[in-house]
Amino acid sequence: MKTLADVLREALKEKGIESIGVLSKRFRKSRNKLQDIAVEIINGKGAIFRVPEKTAVAWDLNGNRVEGSHYAYAPLCMVDKFEMVLSPDELRSKLPEWPYFVIDLYHWDRHTQKEKGKICLQVSQSYGLLRDYFTGRELAVTWANDEFKSMFHGPLDRITTYDGPTSEFLRENGIDEVVLLDPWAEEVLSEKDFGVKAFIIGGIVDTGGNKKKTTPKIGEELERAGVKVRRRKIVLRGDVVGVPDRINRILGIILKMMVEGKSMDEAVYELQEPLHARWRLRKELPKRATRYMVDGRVYRVVEKELFDEYSKWLKIRWEDFVKVLRELDLIALERKRIHHLNKISNARIINGRLYRVILLKKAAMLCYNC
Ligand code: SAM
Repeated sequence: MKTLADVLREALKEKGIESIGVLSKRFRKSRNKLQDIAVEIINGKGAIFRVPEKTAVAWDLNGNRVEGSHYAYAPLCMVDKFEMVLSPDELRSKLPEWPYFVIDLYHWDRHTQKEKGKICLQVSQSYGLLRDYFTGRELAVTWANDEFKSMFHGPLDRITTYDGPTSEFLRENGIDEVVLLDPWAEEVLSEKDFGVKAFIIGGIVDTGGNKKKTTPKIGEELERAGVKVRRRKIVLRGDVVGVPDRINRILGIILKMMVEGKSMDEAVYELQEPLHARWRLRKELPKRATRYMVDGRVYRVVEKELFDEYSKWLKIRWEDFVKVLRELDLIALERKRIHHLNKISNARIINGRLYRVILLKKAAMLCYNC
């Protein structure tokens, strides 16, 4: 999917422009100059002008530094001084129809003040993400009441807010089918879903754990209003555990898949924090544990080398691995030591569970060998 930077690049190429500069120090630190310049043009702050003298700083259309250019981004007030070659209206006319990413605040009143503050922050971060790919106006917040507007510190004038139901917003925009991002869905989000005109994310922050299964309610509400809803979940290796559930991170995963063409597992890994990775590790490690019974005491042991295996797809550091081992009361031993333990133990089923039993004499030998 095209980004806004791609649209500006194409528009400049069409005019035979191969590089652009700036007349001030703006954008020098920007990581994606073309994108940031394009956003400013779309917001009517500036345009591309032909300048009589080459600019001191310029970049080619891939963002690489080049020596000066006769074309520059400058504020619109320069219109009397220089010839405008690409205006905000012209760039706007070239925009493709990007989908809406709707944050649905249907459950706003179920949140504490602190949680409401967190929602506002996540909406703001979502704007930042969309602005890195598109214009930022694709972010729509529905059920956006006065309290939300007063608590939101992001650029209200650069996002789309709608103070009524999501279904009405969709109807007004001619959208009759959506993808609802829902961790409780049966089906996994896939490329086949990327053609819809709106993605709905629940504006829900669940710090108290008292909003379980609130996302499906958003879907039911939409369906009652006649909207076709594709409920889709995001998973990591087939399981929602380990997928970051913050609104902006869910949006980030969708964008990485849609725009950058990343697989779901790659996208989740990139947006994951050690906290989310530990959730999943807690679920994975017990599956790999072997029970040893030494002199009547039970030890659950996993291979130390599992750290390398899991860190390929979970964002864990060694300290996260150790933390989870402690929480689960597991012991990590090197693979070769486990092989040794297996040699000196016998498998037994006790109360329906498999144990490897080591006799005391052998255990003493084991300690001696250690
Ligand atoms: N407690 C809510 C529930 O049980 O439905 C989940 C709220 S979650 C913090 C915020 C939103 O992120 C959800 O409403 C949903 O749109 C999205 N989300 C979180 N995890 C997801 C996943 N694994 N797959 C799809 N969407 C997810």
